[in-house]
Amino acid sequence: MPSRKFADGEVVMGRWPGSVLYYEVQVTSYDDVAHLYTVKYKDGTELALKESDIRSQSSFKHRKSQSSSSSPSRRSSSRSRSRSRSPGRPARGRRRSASQSREHKEDKKKTIQEASLALPVLVLFKPSENNTKRYNGEPESTEKNDTSCIVLEQKLKPDLEVKRVLEQYSLRSRKDDKKKEEIYSEKKTFVAVKPIEKVPTKTKELEFGGRIGTFMMIFFLPATVLYLLLMCKQDDPSLLNFPPLPALESLWEGKAFGIFVLWFVLQAVFYLLPIGKVVEGLPLSNGRRLQYRINGFYAFILTAAVVGVLLYFEFELHYLYDHFMQFAVSAAVFSLALSVYLYVRSLKAPEEELAPGGNSGYFTYDFFIGHELNPRIGSFDLKYFCELRPGLIGWVVINLAMLLAEMKIHNLSVPSLSMILVNSFQLLYVVDALWNEEAVLTTMDITHDGFGFMLAFGDLVWVPFVYSLQAFYLVGHPTTITWPVAAAITVLNCVGYYIFRSANSQKNNFRRNPADPKLANLKFIPTATGKGLLVTGWWGFVRHPNYLGDIIMALAWSLPCGFTHILPYFYVIYFICLLVHREARDEHHCKQKYGLAWERYCQRVPYRIFPYIY
Ligand code: NDP
Repeated sequence: MPSRKFADGEVVMGRWPGSVLYYEVQVTSYDDVAHLYTVKYKDGTELALKESDIRSQSSFKHRKSQSSSSSPSRRSSSRSRSRSRSPGRPARGRRRSASQSREHKEDKKKTIQEASLALPVLVLFKPSENNTKRYNGEPESTEKNDTSCIVLEQKLKPDLEVKRVLEQYSLRSRKDDKKKEEIYSEKKTFVAVKPIEKVPTKTKELEFGGRIGTFMMIFFLPATVLYLLLMCKQDDPSLLNFPPLPALESLWEGKAFGIFVLWFVLQAVFYLLPIGKVVEGLPLSNGRRLQYRINGFYAFILTAAVVGVLLYFEFELHYLYDHFMQFAVSAAVFSLALSVYLYVRSLKAPEEELAPGGNSGYFTYDFFIGHELNPRIGSFDLKYFCELRPGLIGWVVINLAMLLAEMKIHNLSVPSLSMILVNSFQLLYVVDALWNEEAVLTTMDITHDGFGFMLAFGDLVWVPFVYSLQAFYLVGHPTTITWPVAAAITVLNCVGYYIFRSANSQKNNFRRNPADPKLANLKFIPTATGKGLLVTGWWGFVRHPNYLGDIIMALAWSLPCGFTHILPYFYVIYFICLLVHREARDEHHCKQKYGLAWERYCQRVPYRIFPYIY
């Protein structure tokens, strides 16, 4: 096996894929399996390149000095292509005359124009479907242009540099470009670029506090669930009124575990039913696309029918309330066992199927984040299944159980207004997620994180048992609200939902079809990956309008519980922390994906989630 030629950290010249342009890049890692180097461009963009697309700086200078292009235009500009003759690097001991300087400026202008025209045209030549997800090569037609490499000036004025890179990312002809300051391109010229994806390499940047942080989270998360549920059971759930630790045996009940497993199997059966359309996910690093059945909403309807039948036959659903802690422990044990299974099987998974985010080589970290990206048993996708089915639908069933428990315990003929609001708002949220199930395929959870403890515990324990905290709280702590208050809270939830839904739909529709006439009024910044970044509409308001809507809804879910205790506000507090952290993670990924275009977007849309605040 040939050894790698360039070391990590080495500064070399990397060819911009699909073009004849070479830029100064830094090698950040090397994939022994795919034989690809991950390199970082000066604008922050990271790409995977073949060795043949990388040159050492010294050999590159040598080549340039001998350049013997027959093209007159190339000959005339060859001087300006040499870094050693750039204004930033004048030849030692020589002073340029005014005419030389003028000539040089002309050359420089020409180089910039040539560069900004060259890339778009060449990118359009990139027809191979196999290349769609890796920038590891380029069209054959440009392969032979190796000897006519162009080096751009490295010391351009910063604003000129920004403009030039942005213009390169766009496929507009500069000739037609009347407004030079305008950075938003026409959609029709934009869609021809193929997206860039990196091949999975070792995860270098560890999140969640790295190995120690993730190790602690494995204990901290279950402990938090236990604490919250114990607190909620207390008559006085004040923060300082710490609950006594329960006896271990009281936390476990075989029947509860059996019911939980039955529930999981039932949802799996619904998932396997051949109803609902089958769609393709985003392309993987190997160019393959996995197929997913979209039938979450049908699963919900079928579950509702099953629960209806159970209630008809007088099954005591409030059993769930009575044994809530045991159910939570059962789910935690199940998710832990699932995580162990997922990690063990991931050890045999091919390198290309490992998660970009969970392939650090450290056991604790990979176990927590998830080592394998899309673990499947046949066509049964474990992560996709767990994301929206057992936990999310389970949350609604738990809420219903709490509603029935409230009626039974407090001898009510109808549930309290607070309980109705909490149940309705959260039902809307879950139904919305299931109705728009396809959107989950583009989320970080599916495309970046593996399936490990974080998602297994999150999906199966955290979502159903922590998100239902308000309903659980209301059973033990009845809260009366007036109709006007209820109306105000409902309006708040509707506003949140409207922002959340329209922002998500706007982005999803734009991602699916940027040329959609319904989105014609929206402007976007083109990026090197071929995807655009919306800068008007919701995504021009703040950088994560969907998080804003989600947080407003979270507040509306807590308000029906009154202001006596902070416990029912745990969700909104935690959720703000979660989304602020998630936003930072996403920001980091987007910066890597889009480089300078992302920075430009951030300048244009300065606030992340809360306008004028954050
Ligand atoms: P988002 O839906 O916020 O998507 C982020 C991605 O959108 C980015 O990675 C980028 O991906 C794309 N993007 C960013 N800016 C722009 C732009 N200006 N124009 C176009 N595309 C852009 O990701 P999440 O998965 O975090 O959230 C999805 C939904 O789920 C949200 O509504 C969130 O509130 C909710 N959620 C709920 C949770 C809960 O527990 N209830 C937990 C987490 C999320 P690319 O460019 O690659 O397309």
